[in-house]
Amino acid sequence: MKRNDNKTKKIDEKLQGSSLKFIQKQENPKKVYIESYGCQMNMNDSEIVASILLKQGYNTTDDIEEADLILLNTCAIREKAEKTVRNRLKHFNKLKQNHPETKIGLLGCMAERIKEKILEEEKLVDLVVGPDAYRNLPELIEELEDGRKAVNVLLSKEETYGDIEPVRLHSNGVSAFVSITRGCDNMCTFCVVPFTRGRERSRDPESIFNEIRDLKNKGYKEVTLLGQNVDSYLWYGGGLKKDFVKQPEEVKKNAVDFARLLDMTAEKFPGIRIRFSTSNPQDFNLDVIKTMAKHPNIAKHIHLPVQSGSDRILQLMNRKHSIAEYKSKIDAIRKYIPDVAISQDIIAGFSTETEADHQATLELMDYVKYDFGFMFAYSVRPGTAGAKNLPDDVPQEIKLRRLREIIDKQQEHSLYRMQQFTGKTVEVLIEGNSKKSAQHWMGRNAQNAVVIFEKNGNYKPGDLVKVKITDCTSATLFGNAIK
Ligand code: SAM
Repeated sequence: MKRNDNKTKKIDEKLQGSSLKFIQKQENPKKVYIESYGCQMNMNDSEIVASILLKQGYNTTDDIEEADLILLNTCAIREKAEKTVRNRLKHFNKLKQNHPETKIGLLGCMAERIKEKILEEEKLVDLVVGPDAYRNLPELIEELEDGRKAVNVLLSKEETYGDIEPVRLHSNGVSAFVSITRGCDNMCTFCVVPFTRGRERSRDPESIFNEIRDLKNKGYKEVTLLGQNVDSYLWYGGGLKKDFVKQPEEVKKNAVDFARLLDMTAEKFPGIRIRFSTSNPQDFNLDVIKTMAKHPNIAKHIHLPVQSGSDRILQLMNRKHSIAEYKSKIDAIRKYIPDVAISQDIIAGFSTETEADHQATLELMDYVKYDFGFMFAYSVRPGTAGAKNLPDDVPQEIKLRRLREIIDKQQEHSLYRMQQFTGKTVEVLIEGNSKKSAQHWMGRNAQNAVVIFEKNGNYKPGDLVKVKITDCTSATLFGNAIK
C-alpha cells in the first residue's frame, strides 16, 4: 500500500466543493446539483436543503449537465472562498449556454453580502437564499418558474430546522452531523459568522434525540453535535440565547445546557459514539469535562480553538478568556480525561501581531502539544469589528512565514501524539475502504485519529474493531485488527 506521509492536517479539505448526490424518489421529475463549501455546518445545511427540495420534486444529482437547478452553498469565513465562488458561478453560466432553462442559485453565508452584485450587476444567478431562509425555497423556486429572480436573505430569531430530517448526502452511512445550535453571539473581531448566520439559538433537545434515534435506526454508529459554539447551547423553550436572561425563574430553572444535553444524549444512545464541535474556551466548562469522563460513548476529543497564544491579541480579537484560563482548562481536561486528544484553530498575523505575540503562540503550542489543528493566515472580513477598527498591518509574507512556523510545529506535535499510540491497542469505528487501497479499512479511534488496517476479518463499515497500532505518520495510524 502506498502511504502518504501527510504533510500536516492543516485543514480537512476533502468536502470542499463536493457535490451532493443520489437521493432518488421515482416520482420526482427534476434534478438539483448542490455544491458545498465551508464548515461542517454548511455541509449539514446542504443536507437540509436537499431534504426540502426532495419534497418539492427534486432528486439530487452529481452530474451538473443534467441539473434543472444548480445550487452553490457558500462560505464567507476567508477571502479565498469568495474568489472560488465567482469562478464556479462563471463556470455554471457557461454550462447554462447549452441549457438555458437551468436555474442557478447561491446559498449560504455569502448570500447577504454579494446578492446585489451577482444578481443585478453581474447577472450570475437567478436565486439567492441566506442560511435562515431555506424553508422558503419552494416559494422562491416558484417565483423563478414565473420568470422572476428570487431573493431571501433574512436572518431569523427562531429557525433551527429542528423538524427537518436532513438527507444524508455527505455521509458514509456510519457517521452523521446533527446541528444543535445556529448562529453565534461571540462577536470575535475577525469573524463574519454572527453577520452571516445571525444570533445564537438552540434546538429543542427532543428534536435532536428524534434525529439521532432515526440515524440509529438507519444503522449509523456515530454523531457529531454541531454548532459554532456548542458549549453555549441553552434550550429554554426556543428563542435567542441573549433573551434567556429575560425569562421567568421557572423557565430558567428548567433550561437544558450543553453538559446536560451531552449527558442525556450519551445515556439515551449507548451504542452511538458522540462527538461535538466547536468548543469555545470561554464556555467550555468542568461540567462538560466531567460528563465526557463519565460516559465511555463520548469520544475523547475536544476541538478547542485558541486563535493566539498572546493575551493582548486575544483581547483585540474579543476572545473572552486569557491564556492562563485556557491553560487551566487544558490541565483540567487532562486531569479528568488523561487519554484525550485536543485540537486547535490558530490565526497567524492578526492585526498588530508582533514577533513576541507569535512566539507566545508557539510557546502555547509547546505547552498543549495539540493532536492536530486548523491554521490560517488572517484575512480581513468585511463588516467585522476587525475590518472597521483594526489595521491589517502584518505584511502578507510575514503572515505566511508565521503560519508556516505554526504548521511546522503542529506537524511535530501531531507526530509526537501519533507515536504515543504505537504498540497500543485502540478501538476503531470502521468508516469504509481506505482511499489508497481496497485491501485496507479506514476508520477512526475515539481520539479522532485516522487508522488504516488490513482487511483480514469479517468486518464491515460501522463495526467497532480492536486494532494494534504498529506504525504511524503525523496524520495516520497503521495497524492490525486483533480478535
Ligand atoms: N466558532 C469557532 C470559534 O470561534 O472558536 C470557529 C469558527 S470558524 C467557522 C473556524 C475558524 O476559522 C476559526 O476558529 C478561525 O481560526 C478561522 N477564521 C475565522 N475568521 C477568520 C479570518 N477572518 N481570517 C482567518 N481565519 C479565520
